Amino acid sequence: MRRRELLKYLSVVPVGGAMSQYVDFGNEDHRVLSKAPRNLFEELGVRTFINAAGTYTAMTGSLMREETLEAINYSAQDFCMLDDLQDKVGERIAKMVHAESAVITSGCFSALTLGLAGILTGNDPDKVSLLPHIDGTDIKSEVICQKGHNIGYGRALKNTGCKIVLVETAEEAKNAINERTAMMFFVHIMSDQGQIQHQEWLDIAKKYDIPTMIDMAADVPPVSNLWRFNDMGFDLVCVSGGKAMRGPQSAGILMGKKALIDATRLNMFPRGDTIGRGMKVNKEEILGMYVALEKFMNLDHEKEWKAQEASVNHIIKAVKSVSDNIFTEIVVPPLGNVTPTLHMNWDADKIKINGKELQRRLREGNPSIEIASSEDNKLVLTVWMLKPGQEKIVAVRLKEEMLKMV
Ligand SMILES: *Cc1c(COP(=O)(O)O)cnc(C)c1O
Repeated sequence: MRRRELLKYLSVVPVGGAMSQYVDFGNEDHRVLSKAPRNLFEELGVRTFINAAGTYTAMTGSLMREETLEAINYSAQDFCMLDDLQDKVGERIAKMVHAESAVITSGCFSALTLGLAGILTGNDPDKVSLLPHIDGTDIKSEVICQKGHNIGYGRALKNTGCKIVLVETAEEAKNAINERTAMMFFVHIMSDQGQIQHQEWLDIAKKYDIPTMIDMAADVPPVSNLWRFNDMGFDLVCVSGGKAMRGPQSAGILMGKKALIDATRLNMFPRGDTIGRGMKVNKEEILGMYVALEKFMNLDHEKEWKAQEASVNHIIKAVKSVSDNIFTEIVVPPLGNVTPTLHMNWDADKIKINGKELQRRLREGNPSIEIASSEDNKLVLTVWMLKPGQEKIVAVRLKEEMLKMV
């Protein structure tokens, strides 16, 4: 499922859901923090589930890798100066992603807000303390964005006090540029929804000397996207840390031109009188993000891909064994959430189950399973957020429920 569909979907994700008794399927628990962890979820009555859906904030995103958790535990033992840590981590990350500079933010959302804040204020402390009340000041106040790229996350930009000016054609983009234009914004995941592609967008911006930003929150893998947009010449590049990279869910990375990142830092914690003071990232998340990025970049991505395909195929085999009237397809979204995604549908005349009902049964079953989406006779799921072996449980549960209906 595409992220924009997901945006719609997320608004209907139920809060809570039925409680299920925990059944031990023999799958390994990868928690490393404690030998005998207190079962806090159970104590609180919070449902946990197998995530065959994807990297959704509402579902707490992703699970951090062992190395990341170790970095978090390690860094919790000592104090350091926050700015010193951001400097050193930023330098390392910048090298890794072909940028002049980088900084850890609280998610991609705050990278969008703070990066724009940096553009608006430059190094002027008076401007920093004015934001977001920029009306009637000489601070620029408009961000140009393609209509098809105008998704809800634009709120992150509006939080600076700017308004978003929507355009469709290159001509309109050029005409929209004026002395109040602060930035030209591009959303990679929506790039098939706009007439203007990356390079043309950059060319227009360069011609009129307007800073550019790209939102690529959910666009790794491919891992090369981490440096691709820096190489292309975007001034600021924003990515989520807690999606496919499995860094801390509350971390993101802002990368790009040094002068702009320096200005961004003036708008950030630990500095108090800033719009970014509340978007704090602690040392544990900063180091966790750094290690998660490093780990992600060093992964054997081909092997990861094959493992994901194998998991999808395992599930396909199980459901196909139920009936010839169940059809499956592995779809790889061209933009965003690039992972082998299982699209399944069935002959509604022969198999009397509604997709929504099936989704509900998986959610309320034992153990609880969340999938990406469902419709009348359709279902979509992913395997990239499964723990090793959980594809077997998903296959068993799906088969069990489908068998009841044939
Ligand atoms: C997820 C997402 C964001 C927000 O990222 P966070 O890391 O959750 O703050 C912004 N833009 C797009 C396109 C996204 O998919």
